[in-house]
Amino acid sequence: MDFKPIASVMNREYVGREVCIRGWVYRRSVVGGKAFVRVRDSSGVMQVVVDSSRLGDELVDSLKNIGLEASVMACGEVREESKAPGGFELHASFFKIIGDSRDFPIKGGEGDEYLLNVRHLWIRSPRYAALFKIKHTVINAGREYFSRNGWWEVTPPILTASACEGGATLFPVQYFDQTAFLSQSAQLYLEVLIYTLEKVYSLTPSFRAEKSRTRRHLAEYWHLEPEAAWYDMNDMMKVAEELVAYIVSKVLEDRRRELEEFGRDVKKLKKALETPYPRIRYDEAIEILQKKGVNVKWGDDLGADEERVLTMEFESPFFLTHFPRHIKSFYMKLDPSNPEVVLGFDLLAPEGYGEIIGGGQREDDYKLLLERLIEQGYNPDDYKWYLDLRKYGSVPHSGFGLGIERIVMWITGLEHIRETMPFPRYRERIYP
Ligand code: ATP
Ligand code: MG
Ligand code: MG
Ligand code: MG
Repeated sequence: MDFKPIASVMNREYVGREVCIRGWVYRRSVVGGKAFVRVRDSSGVMQVVVDSSRLGDELVDSLKNIGLEASVMACGEVREESKAPGGFELHASFFKIIGDSRDFPIKGGEGDEYLLNVRHLWIRSPRYAALFKIKHTVINAGREYFSRNGWWEVTPPILTASACEGGATLFPVQYFDQTAFLSQSAQLYLEVLIYTLEKVYSLTPSFRAEKSRTRRHLAEYWHLEPEAAWYDMNDMMKVAEELVAYIVSKVLEDRRRELEEFGRDVKKLKKALETPYPRIRYDEAIEILQKKGVNVKWGDDLGADEERVLTMEFESPFFLTHFPRHIKSFYMKLDPSNPEVVLGFDLLAPEGYGEIIGGGQREDDYKLLLERLIEQGYNPDDYKWYLDLRKYGSVPHSGFGLGIERIVMWITGLEHIRETMPFPRYRERIYP
């Protein structure tokens, strides 16, 4: 038997032809002598009609009790039927149950926590198929953008000895007879690799022990990070906006049907195709926020709430730049024209989403970097190898990190980042 993807046979070309499909029972009902079984595969859902006058009473009777998510095979003629979902039906000449399913634990109407406990079963749905296909396209487009533009993909370590984004969110792990940490960012290692390859990027999981539960933080997420020698902050911002515009264009091109599953307003998404994106300085952001009555002052770190207010000022993604030095990491280069601020940038997604990229120019001066490490309470001995990079042929360089789940969340218009992960990890959740 030659099995066809369901979506491929649901068109006029197949009407009147005999095809075979296979998948899982999505819905079923028996009316009179006919069973209507909706079958789901990775490509779509199709109604299969099993008629007792053709295949016997026994089979139709057994389909009365067929469990949701039982796996089945069916062959038959494709017919146009406006009442069926998608407009086509399969009239079965053959129908077989492959794997039975008794009392599938999801019946509809269950609460979030319950569903998260049965996530291994919950993610069998057209909605998650659409979501994970969009995520696939985002990842592919990201890789494609870099490899087509002369960047090299590299493989930094996940087990590391020191912090990159601050000690508070580190996950310690037993590493033989010492303690190591799961990587929060590949950045410091990418900075090493630019001396070999100049323009590098990596796609790795990053781990952060985020203590508070928010709609945009996971404990484990996928991180796309470029780093390039000779690039200043502006060069890197150009890469960031080109990358995001490219990813959005690919999703709009290849995943239109999947976006519909989320009722996404494509017109709004299209604003991200127009580069360059607007740029505002941290100083201006503080002014905007104060005018809007938000209680912030110069020097405060901006969180999700402040970012949400700022996103209301823009229709496309936009950059926020030149943050106060004390709210940003030790490796960010101080602005030579005002050393109170750093040459750093965030890219914020509109419609309330906020930060999807954080990046900037790196401190390339040995003495300044050492000062900043000490200023932020790190032990310079732990960073000897990193400091070495500034001793042997240091170069101006820049990079950034894009959170894959953050951009997927914005592109699909989801409320919560955990939806974008098949198995989300956050405080209090490690199962399944
Ligand atoms: P936030 O301000 O939201 O806590 P951050 O400034 O700590 O993020 P960076 O260190 O700049 O994040 O990391 C680079 C990118 O990684 C972020 O712009 C974001 O897209 C993503 N990211 C950071 N933390 C998380 C997380 N806990 N879960 C998912 N994505 C994250
Ligand atoms: Mg953070
Ligand atoms: Mg941030
Ligand atoms: Mg950041």
